[in-house]
Amino acid sequence: MTHQTTCCYCGVGCGIVVKQEPNGRLTVEGDKQHPSNRGMLCSKGMNLQYTVMDQSDRLLYPQMRLNRNMPKQRVSWDAALERTAAVFKTFIQKYGPDSVAFYVSGQCLTEEYYLVNKLIKGFIGSNNIDTNSRLCMSSAVVGYKLSLGEDSVPVCYDDIEEADVFLVQGANPAWCHPILWRRIEAHKAANPNVKIICVDPRRTDTARSSDLHLPIRPGTDIVLNNAIGRLMIENGDIDLDFITNHADGFVAYSEQIMQRTVDEAAAICGISADSIQQAADWIGRSKGFLSLWTMGLNQSVIGVNKNLAIINLHLITGRIGKPATAHFP
Ligand code: SF4
Repeated sequence: MTHQTTCCYCGVGCGIVVKQEPNGRLTVEGDKQHPSNRGMLCSKGMNLQYTVMDQSDRLLYPQMRLNRNMPKQRVSWDAALERTAAVFKTFIQKYGPDSVAFYVSGQCLTEEYYLVNKLIKGFIGSNNIDTNSRLCMSSAVVGYKLSLGEDSVPVCYDDIEEADVFLVQGANPAWCHPILWRRIEAHKAANPNVKIICVDPRRTDTARSSDLHLPIRPGTDIVLNNAIGRLMIENGDIDLDFITNHADGFVAYSEQIMQRTVDEAAAICGISADSIQQAADWIGRSKGFLSLWTMGLNQSVIGVNKNLAIINLHLITGRIGKPATAHFP
């Protein structure tokens, strides 16, 4: 038996083909037809079958206890489900649908999200459902709504092979999104003029294989990105046609970012002004500019503004909505 599905570990979303042999043994391989990974898998995806087959520390049947002081005992699935439903029912009857909630995993597949949302919203009648996806992505969602009007990421994986400048900020894709990073590395190997800028206080594997590492002080991303924006405006590396026809608020943005000199920004970020200038030159003169970021920007009390600061670089240069140009949280 063969199933095509998706690796559940990270946002790259690699396609996998799972085969079950007659003896029940599973094998996993990359889906050659899948647009994300084209058959490749990283070590996490490659070993997915062991998490299913290894039963040494796996919960194989429901266990229940009537109160916290009693030991858990094995029960049938029917007994476990009936008890769960009965507890839900008691609370809903007594206190209403908003007295119950679901907290589910960001590792669920789309179909599982659909089912659990249908259950809590469509059947129970409550909005009380959340996942760890909110912790990861809510800053980006609000950043997109504020800047573009909707939470929609205007990028596709094929843009990787078209871009010539990559800005990786608050992310370590060499470890955390390996297949995506392999694609960027392969693209750079085939096109040595491709430039990778990595913004990260740590010297990560991503930073090590970048052309320019900006080890800023933690939390100073907005200062850095606004300084890059300032330099691109001063150098004339912006797209006035795009700004005039498709963007609002450019004057207010310029006034804001001109309030701080690049030297001041460099001092706040703890890096040289020359390195900021280098980043601005590469981004401003790029043919295709892709920015990638993850939790270094998103998991922050000013995460929305960090998202806006990076999206603004795309808006002032018109590097958006065209092949090879996009922001990619
Ligand atoms: S990069 Fe690795 S962990 Fe992420 S989806 Fe692909 S195989 Fe899974």
